[in-house]
Amino acid sequence: MRRKRLVLLGATGSIGSSTLKVVRAHPERFEVVGLAAGRNAAALKRLAAEFGVRRLALAEPNAAGIPSGEAALCDLARSEAADLVVMAIAGMAGYAPTLAAIDAGHDVALATKEVLVMAGTEVMRRRAERGVRILPLDSEHSAVFQCLQNLAAQPACVRLEPDAPKAEDRIAEIILTASGGPFFRRPEIDWKRVTVAEALNHPRWSMGPKVTVDSATMMNKGLELIEALHLFAVPPERLRVWVHPQSIVHSFVSFRDGALLAQMAFPDMVLPIQYALTWPDRALSGPIEPMTLVGMQGLEFLEPDLQRFPCLRLAFDAIRAGTWAHPVLTLANEVAVRAFLRGRITADRIAAVIEDGLAAGPAAFDEIVARAESAVAAYAH
Ligand code: MG
Repeated sequence: MRRKRLVLLGATGSIGSSTLKVVRAHPERFEVVGLAAGRNAAALKRLAAEFGVRRLALAEPNAAGIPSGEAALCDLARSEAADLVVMAIAGMAGYAPTLAAIDAGHDVALATKEVLVMAGTEVMRRRAERGVRILPLDSEHSAVFQCLQNLAAQPACVRLEPDAPKAEDRIAEIILTASGGPFFRRPEIDWKRVTVAEALNHPRWSMGPKVTVDSATMMNKGLELIEALHLFAVPPERLRVWVHPQSIVHSFVSFRDGALLAQMAFPDMVLPIQYALTWPDRALSGPIEPMTLVGMQGLEFLEPDLQRFPCLRLAFDAIRAGTWAHPVLTLANEVAVRAFLRGRITADRIAAVIEDGLAAGPAAFDEIVARAESAVAAYAH
């Protein structure tokens, strides 16, 4: 078998590191042909030496002579040598390189939420046009994707024949699981009094500050609902969230024939990444502890209380309102969370800023941000 040639953007971040762990575990299967990072030239060069990679790029200008900027990232994403582009650049900086990879005819394993949340319609239209696949890397979406593997009907994100049988026609509901974050067990959540330190203390996953706050407010799940809309082409009313504090089931698909399929594993991003890299195959081994349910007690599944988690309620409102509301939800949340992390507003105002944004209606990205910033200024203490 010829080795699959990977281009990895976001190589020094947590998804990038897990991706390289998968490559190290399967040297006979994968070859890295391009690497990009944000600004850490030294770390990038170390990885380049380890994996024997000559094509490099950095987002930031650097003294190391490595090509930099959006154009360099896009060039790398277009590399003729690539079989699969792994997109793990954080934030909207991942957008242009994702489109560049798609337009060059490459399959993309996508970790960057913002790309689908902000521009999912455009990304999915182009992938269908170019005949390439988007493979989900997020643990929940990978779980749904794994539950949908069926030779007779493929999920929307990898379907190349427009007339082929559709997985979504067989789906009754997609149920994304959520850990519930650090506040789920509290009898009362007084968002006004929640501190930054409390919000950053996540029980299961260790992630960056923005994502950790999103997980505490459950907005993270809201953004994942939008991703699921695009990847799996189901209408908003077929999406649900169940809180599952143990994070063993990574998501469910409920089928029209009455079956409920779940994907389970110990929480570790290596597995969803490895699945995307080996798809449509499964690896014969992996750097992952095998899953067992023996001795595991009390797996719980609960309906989230949308009164207690207003950000999740706003996310459900936004997906029902239509695609115009997706960037409003995302950008207003980003502005509000940044303001909360800097101590400018209390945590209860995050939902208020988003609610104001949704109430103000559709707008261009810049206008959405400007509106959110003036809402923050009004709520600042
Ligand atoms: Mg997730």
